Amino acid sequence: MFFFIAGIQPKTVKLDDHPRMCPSCGLYQARLKRVDQYLSVFFLPIFRVKRGIPFLECQSCGSFSRESGEVLAGPAQRSVRTCPYCGKTLEPEHRFCPFCGKPM
Ligand SMILES: [Zn+2]
Ligand SMILES: [Zn+2]
Repeated sequence: MFFFIAGIQPKTVKLDDHPRMCPSCGLYQARLKRVDQYLSVFFLPIFRVKRGIPFLECQSCGSFSRESGEVLAGPAQRSVRTCPYCGKTLEPEHRFCPFCGKPM
């Protein structure tokens, strides 16, 4: 009995290292990426079967958007931080807690 494991797997490619403006938060923290579909055998991507549409993923707020400025998914919940001193919610870009003034 021979098992031939083949399938289509998504693979995220970073198109360049140039930071772009995030349409969601306005910071130059977004990177242009693309998700391509690869035919993979034994979980190794062999060749690309479908080229994805480039999108911007913001390193700061975690939102996804098109280069045109259309926001696909807003700021991710994972970027929510709380102050360990006072427990208030902080923005990801805060270096100091705006409520109690402690450095982060
Ligand atoms: Zn952003
Ligand atoms: Zn605080």
